[in-house]
Amino acid sequence: MRVGILPRADRNNGWLEILPPLPPANPVTGCRSVDYAVVGAGFTGLAAARRLAELFPDAAIALLDAGRIGNNAAGRCSGFAIDQAHNIRTKDFAANLEAEKAQIAINRAGQDYLKAAVQAHAIACDWDEGGKYHAAATGDGQLALQAYAGNLNLLRAPYRWLDAGAMQALTGSPFYRQGLHTPGTILLQPAALVLGLARTLPGNIAVFEDSPVTGVSYGPPHRLVAGNGEITASALLLTNNGFAGQFGHCSKHLIPVVTWGSLTRPMTGAEIARLGGQGDWGIVPANPFGTSVRRTVDNRILVRNIYSYCSGLNPTEADRLWARKKHETSLRNRFPMLPGLEFDYTWGGPLSLSKNGEPAFGTFAGGVFGAFCLNGVGIARGTAYGKLLAEHIAGADSDLLEIMRNAGRPNPLPPRPFLDLGVRVDFARRRYRAGLEL
Ligand SMILES: Cc1cc2nc3c(=O)[nH]c(=O)nc-3n(C[C@H](O)[C@H](O)[C@H](O)COP(=O)(O)OP(=O)(O)OC[C@H]3O[C@@H](n4cnc5c(N)ncnc54)[C@H](O)[C@@H]3O)c2cc1C
Repeated sequence: MRVGILPRADRNNGWLEILPPLPPANPVTGCRSVDYAVVGAGFTGLAAARRLAELFPDAAIALLDAGRIGNNAAGRCSGFAIDQAHNIRTKDFAANLEAEKAQIAINRAGQDYLKAAVQAHAIACDWDEGGKYHAAATGDGQLALQAYAGNLNLLRAPYRWLDAGAMQALTGSPFYRQGLHTPGTILLQPAALVLGLARTLPGNIAVFEDSPVTGVSYGPPHRLVAGNGEITASALLLTNNGFAGQFGHCSKHLIPVVTWGSLTRPMTGAEIARLGGQGDWGIVPANPFGTSVRRTVDNRILVRNIYSYCSGLNPTEADRLWARKKHETSLRNRFPMLPGLEFDYTWGGPLSLSKNGEPAFGTFAGGVFGAFCLNGVGIARGTAYGKLLAEHIAGADSDLLEIMRNAGRPNPLPPRPFLDLGVRVDFARRRYRAGLEL
């Protein structure tokens, strides 16, 4: 079958562009045979390939990506490796306590696997275990924080309240009425992390970038047309996020969404003095449709907000410019004392959501496996899913695998154009309701 839509990544990803230039890519050329072909080198694919190589040190593994590692959603994200997720479509985060505890256990396994690689290979990615701040700018936001604290109480999870003064002492901004700090989240530079992970993969993994898989004949063995060549594999792992639907799996189950980030230039010494506040920190919004903000180690401000429904999977330049305008408003609202601070970069990245919040994980057909549809939070979760997928293929058993094997699958979506209309209206309504939290 032909793979219909391929990822098209521009070069606006600030996290990647502030790093030293990338070395040339190594695309697929000619024909080769491997034991495992992993399609997609984001957090999920990087972890799946690494774990496969650990479990099968003699196997030949190919990790393929359509573009450059670091320029995918993994390298474009906001860099909150979250243990307890704030689901963008669930009001009560801990409505189902056992399921929530299971998610936290999975996310922590992902964090641990990342940490082991970061420490073993001294990957420089501004790794910071300082936790995250949930922040409210409105009365509704404060109510949402109260509800969240109630859920944390049920989970017996630690947290700390911050009043408006403490939030200003942290951020320098008088914008927030209240905050709630939870430990357990790791802040990091996402492009630096994924590049470091890719550079330090075990030797039995061949990494091919700029190698979109444009065709697949399912076997096994499976034949992939990729880059300027072909790869034949006994087992195929789909770790390519919302693009997995293009391979004929869950194609009518994944809601394609893009969310957006912008990064300013580094603040000048005078701006840093005018702003005040502390060094690097990370804020997630009380309202899930609000704005995440970070002050980075090199004194830039990151803004992330807006979920755009994107039926074509790749957003347009007009979408990007629209998101940038929204980000400028969010920046000015929070930091009126920094009128000259401009964004150097604005970028979008794909997410895939399911209607019922379930992931796609496990065996899809003979020798075809997949882990995708991470429902918006993928650093820790994607890493855990990738690692567990390799363990699933190896026939392992564990509590976490049990959770994944018993998880539901994404449920079917309404047909288009009802889906398009429904999601667009829902997102517009939620954006409106977020008000000043945006
Ligand atoms: C702006 C933004 C902010 C975010 N912030 C956070 C955050 O703070 N914390 C968090 O946990 N998550 C965050 N996310 C979500 C997170 O980035 C994703 O959930 C995560 O990257 C998904 O990982 P993945 O490996 O499954 O997919 P991806 O990172 O999307 O990787 C999939 C790869 O598959 C490749 N691919 C697709 N089709 C093909 C093909 N035909 N051939 C070859 N390769 C192909 C793509 O090129 C891509 O590299 C954010 C996302 C965005 C866009």
